[in-house]
Amino acid sequence: MLELTAQQVRMQQRAADKPTALELLCRALEADGLVEPGYLAGLQAREAQGSTYLGQGIAIPHGTPQTRDLVVRTGVRLLHFPEGVDWGDGQIVYLAIAIAARSDEHLNLLQLLTRALGEGDTGAQLRGAQTADQLLAALSGGAGTLALDSSLVGLQQSAEDLDELLLLAARRLKAAGCAESGFLAALQQGEALYLGNAIWWLSGGDKVSRPGLAFVTAQRELQHAGQPLRGLFCLAEHGDAARPVLDRLCSLLVEGRGAELANSTSPRAVLEALGGELPVDWPSLRVPLANPHGLHARPSQVLMSMARDFSGELRVRVADSDAAPVSIRSLSKLLSLGARRGQILEFFAEPEIAEVALPALREAVEQGLGEEVMPLPADAMPATVVAAAPEEPPQALASGEWLAAIAAAPGIASGPAHLQVTRRFSYAPRGESSEREALRLNEAKAAIADELDTLVQRSQSKAVRDIFVTHQALLDDPELAAEVSERLVHGDSAEAAWDSVIEQAAKRQEALGDALLAERAADLRDLGRRVLARLCGVALATEPEQPYILVMEEVGPSDVARLDPQRVAGILTVRGGATSHSAIIARALGIPALVGAGEGLLQLQPGSTLLLDGERGQFMLAPSAETLEHALHQRDQQQRRREIAEARRHEPAHTRDGHAVEVCANLGDSAGAATAVALGAEGVGLLRSEFVFLDSPCAPDLVAQEAEYRRVLDALDGRPLVVRTLDVGGDKPLPYWPIPHEANPYLGVRGIRLTLQRPQIFETQLRALLRAADGRPLRIMFPMVGLVEEWRQARDLALALRAEYDCADLQLGIMVEVPSAALLAPVLAREVDFFSIGTNDLTQYALAIDRGHPSLSGQADGLHPAVLQLIDMTVRAAHAHGKWVGICGELAADAQALPVLLGLGVDELSVSARSIPLVKQGVRELDQARARELAQAALGLASAGEVRALVSKALGEDR
Ligand code: PEP
Ligand code: MG
Repeated sequence: MLELTAQQVRMQQRAADKPTALELLCRALEADGLVEPGYLAGLQAREAQGSTYLGQGIAIPHGTPQTRDLVVRTGVRLLHFPEGVDWGDGQIVYLAIAIAARSDEHLNLLQLLTRALGEGDTGAQLRGAQTADQLLAALSGGAGTLALDSSLVGLQQSAEDLDELLLLAARRLKAAGCAESGFLAALQQGEALYLGNAIWWLSGGDKVSRPGLAFVTAQRELQHAGQPLRGLFCLAEHGDAARPVLDRLCSLLVEGRGAELANSTSPRAVLEALGGELPVDWPSLRVPLANPHGLHARPSQVLMSMARDFSGELRVRVADSDAAPVSIRSLSKLLSLGARRGQILEFFAEPEIAEVALPALREAVEQGLGEEVMPLPADAMPATVVAAAPEEPPQALASGEWLAAIAAAPGIASGPAHLQVTRRFSYAPRGESSEREALRLNEAKAAIADELDTLVQRSQSKAVRDIFVTHQALLDDPELAAEVSERLVHGDSAEAAWDSVIEQAAKRQEALGDALLAERAADLRDLGRRVLARLCGVALATEPEQPYILVMEEVGPSDVARLDPQRVAGILTVRGGATSHSAIIARALGIPALVGAGEGLLQLQPGSTLLLDGERGQFMLAPSAETLEHALHQRDQQQRRREIAEARRHEPAHTRDGHAVEVCANLGDSAGAATAVALGAEGVGLLRSEFVFLDSPCAPDLVAQEAEYRRVLDALDGRPLVVRTLDVGGDKPLPYWPIPHEANPYLGVRGIRLTLQRPQIFETQLRALLRAADGRPLRIMFPMVGLVEEWRQARDLALALRAEYDCADLQLGIMVEVPSAALLAPVLAREVDFFSIGTNDLTQYALAIDRGHPSLSGQADGLHPAVLQLIDMTVRAAHAHGKWVGICGELAADAQALPVLLGLGVDELSVSARSIPLVKQGVRELDQARARELAQAALGLASAGEVRALVSKALGEDR
């Protein structure tokens, strides 16, 4: 990424003409080791092809593809020519920016420069600059013009209070390039101003990259500070760029038209009222850009020159982006698009010239805008396809053979395959007439609305019903409807308009970087597919009446949550891993599940019989009657074992030779504690306290938290509670706790690192826990500890607070999830009261495999000998100091892992509440002495597969 800094600038240079200036520039690049001798020929050749003058006294000389090999490293050097250099055609350059780049990195430089190239007289400022800083300040532009276009208006949003509206507005400003990370946090310090008519105003000048105004409204009237709240204006303030819009807004309010804004359902009407940039209402055309280095200066100049041939206005944008289209007469605006090869350009032409101009533009872009272009791969062409299916059809699955997949939730299941996979939909991109297309779309939507009504009425669980109610709201969303109508008016077919609006909206959701809001993207796509299928006349497979095996490409937690365990006998997915959160939910629902079965699943005929074994990690297509009978017999045996396990669930778990293991529950909410006890839990081994924070729109206060923790302790009735303090960051973002973007959040500020940065939130949580304890057994552990100092800092805070409360039975420990914690266990064991090993994260960090990775996570197996070594080290160190060790990752519920973990000497297993009876039963069927031998043998093996084979054999002999 190219950046401009004062060190790159050479002030007060002089050159009699352009060739001399080029020599000086090249010398500067060479002197700083950016290019090798000979690059000058490239600069000269490039100027001969076309001037690199950009406007406002700025030129950007750079080499040609032939001289790219002479670039040693990417960089720029800026030469200031206060007396000016004639760059040809009477264009005078005061600042030349020489670029050394091997690829198209200079596109990003062009984007940086667009503000300087826009309004104002940057040329004069550059000329008069006395210092490098002044020069750079001139380049970064003054106030600029206020951004206010359709991407910054969000009407009828789902929001519950001012904070949520503010979050939505700030995100729009960020997406529009007006605000940077930290903008929201700075704004939250300010007080919102009431403007009347349920409209509020909040502005901030911190972390603003360019001025912009966002306007968001809520679906229903809310309250804030005793006043009604419906709409919020949020200004990213920079200079006085907003003044004209503010004047207009004041007039509107004085004229009593505020309510119009607050209740509007049309972004266009809002923009019209405020004088913002209106979405154009003109014929349009989409064409892919094939230029190797995107829409850089030369092809942009060709486009600009085409504009001169037409008397009307022509605009362009990168298709499906939120950005407003820009005029093709402005080089700076064209460059600001930053369009790259493979992206689709969407041109808009005034109706009078559209018929001639649009085909001419298509031809020019297709021919490369003056450059030689290689054709794009077929899938980059304007798509009539929703989702890419694999290029080569994967091999069909063999029938009657056991096929391997990743065991995600135990149990044997069989039934007809019900495929819920992304379908291809073919449709014409252009429609007959906007009226006809609107009619077709409305018919399709009405049919889906009926289906949704039925689904809502049929849903027995509230969670499932809520999902379909959300779909109803999305189907009726006025903002989506307005965007679709706009496309229909431009001539899109109903399918194309609906499809692209839904996809764009889904992408916007995903880009919010907020797990909860991003889940809405899946809902949008789900609904989008239903309507699209209806429009295309494609029947989506109907749900079989009898219990079926659900086959999906990948399963998200919300997909699983909406399943009806009475109808879904089992789940089989193409991708996914055993420790993904969806697998955790499948286990909690008691649905046998296999994940990561591979692309071959996509070839399955709907309705074909599947047999799956969620414990052994295998499945079979079209099993013979004999195999099916055998498997079902096994299932019955397992059922009987489960019945015995359930009958004995309240008994302690002792091995045959009398070794006791404590079996506790993992909980993700306070409501589940009573059920866990009813299922035989001897305590809670992991309370994922994030739920208290995730269920709340802002950080929960002391009282709210204390009530949640008390609820769990009350239900446990004297049994111990192990609470993990807040573990957010990485894969668990909190909407109201924005974390600056990190290249690799899994290795970034998360878990204890994050809470230590927010001592106030941390302290409130600790106080709430200590207050709730009331002398009952409370164990507090800190997540993601990787350094001894982190543990000590957290411990010291907890101990300092402890003195204030009655907490006689308190233990403090850490989760062992980071390999360094296991390796430092001999040091830590002296200080902690206990360790709880989080094998989900420990495995991902030890093996360097993302636990949710679509194709690799299957290899993230906690029975890998490398992970077992870390567990062994931890247990030995803990026992040497008389401390206990628990396992709270998913491995604790894995039947094959049980003998190994017991053999390594772990003292406690914490599993999902449903698994407790079977885990206890599993312990009862084992022999500690034999388990120890098995574990020792496992430590010496080479792979998880070898360990599993060893255990299978041993269990086969024992049971
Ligand atoms: C773990 O990492 O094993 C663990 C229990 O924590 P979580 O799954 O919540 O990250
Ligand atoms: Mg973890």
